[in-house]
Amino acid sequence: MLSRLSRSSNSVRLISTRASLAAAASKNQVLLSRHVPEVDPEMYEILQGERSRQKHSITLIPSENFTSKAVMDLLGSEMQNKYSEGYPGERYYGGNKFIDKAESLCQKRALEVFGLDPDQWGVNVQPLSGAPANLYAYSAILDTGDRLMGLDLPDGGHLSHGYQTASGTKISFISKYFQTMPYRVDPKTGLIDYATLELTSKLFRPKVIVAGASAYARELDYNRFREIANSCGAYLMSDMAHISGLVAAGVTESPFKYSDIVTTTTHKSLRGPRGAMIFFRKGIRKVTKKGKEIPYELEKKINFSVFPGHQGGPHNHTISALAVALKQASTPEFKTYQKQVVENARVFGEELIKKGFKLVSGGTDTHLILIDLTPLGIDGARLEAILERLNIAANKNTIPGDKSALFPSGLRVGTPAMTSRGFGAAEFSQVAAYIEIAAKLAARLKNQESSDNKDSRSKLDNFKQLCHDSSEVQCLAQEISEWVGQYPVPGEI
Ligand code: PLP
Repeated sequence: MLSRLSRSSNSVRLISTRASLAAAASKNQVLLSRHVPEVDPEMYEILQGERSRQKHSITLIPSENFTSKAVMDLLGSEMQNKYSEGYPGERYYGGNKFIDKAESLCQKRALEVFGLDPDQWGVNVQPLSGAPANLYAYSAILDTGDRLMGLDLPDGGHLSHGYQTASGTKISFISKYFQTMPYRVDPKTGLIDYATLELTSKLFRPKVIVAGASAYARELDYNRFREIANSCGAYLMSDMAHISGLVAAGVTESPFKYSDIVTTTTHKSLRGPRGAMIFFRKGIRKVTKKGKEIPYELEKKINFSVFPGHQGGPHNHTISALAVALKQASTPEFKTYQKQVVENARVFGEELIKKGFKLVSGGTDTHLILIDLTPLGIDGARLEAILERLNIAANKNTIPGDKSALFPSGLRVGTPAMTSRGFGAAEFSQVAAYIEIAAKLAARLKNQESSDNKDSRSKLDNFKQLCHDSSEVQCLAQEISEWVGQYPVPGEI
């Protein structure tokens, strides 16, 4: 009797435990399946704010773009739940059947879109972003303390090409790990000074020369870079982050013919998710005078440098999204888009020149324009600030000879993002007109700054306050917001 009773009370307890577990599990399910507005209204409000800012701003930052709905779908997909350290077919985790397929597809499309023969080139699609990708590539072929040359930051290079200040402060850690020496542009022409690079590279004897830029509006002479690299025995690494969309579409010279390694981000003109790729040559690097073949051996070194050298699990949602972006980049529509990007930049540049602006190098061959503000008596920081108030996102930039990155003399603008939203020549002429008004307003407001401000920061804060209080600025900001808001944002919900 007693044992029957205790058995039945045990099963009652078991049933009630199961019931509470099921209730907890279903609460958990509910929590997991709710959307952002329900789960986190505070974050949702921030998201809505950013959505609205993007829709009602003219995005002129040349490294930004609007990716597609299909790319966004994969970025927010189940692919992000999986760990898959290693490479397709050689993972340190189980359950990677589909992840392997996604990464292999991405690699295949990456080679195809740039017209590369898989016997000659390989690609690593796992780097999380552009600056890390450059570090991984250098580390694959350099020992710490080895030498590298890249375009100086004030002259248009990127931090990850080894920036240190004129006084020797090593801003980028690349210049702590390796010895870095810059090459520059000719201050008179704004074009890369290949002759001096040739001379200095023979003295410095770098192991790597980086061809690539963040703020250079002209095509690079890769053939010249190749000759210079050959003359000092260096690898030529091209960082095509800014122009990879243009290269994929064939509207600018491709670096692949001349380079040993090519790195790129995937979210700029290529219009994919935030990420990066490292392409490397396979096969024979050179044949010695005695006829001995020296192989590249980059594949193993670069793959090892990415994982396990620097990264852990790859971001599979990004890699899957990138595969989709690369498919989109191989379409005729993408080629038309990139032609329009370059045409828009040409028109935009010409309109700016007509309005009296001076452009570094006198114009553009690409998606990007670098404006030299010195003749206008305003700096890039102030112009960027007033443009932001006016709902125009551009960025201050150093120009050749600049000392300060915080108060540089240039403004960098570009066309990929707004071309994605349907802007053509007429719209970019209008944008040039807005920039002209902004520059005039900025010069006037600068004159109204209080003389009590001693340092540059408080002067800029004062300037921002004057912009904020100006009814002319407010009126124009409203006009611009309404105008640009009519152009759809790709991927808009
Ligand atoms: N390389 C170049 C030429 C760039 O312009 C940039 C960024 O603008 C990078 C590398 C770094 O990319 P990320 O910001 O993804 O690290």
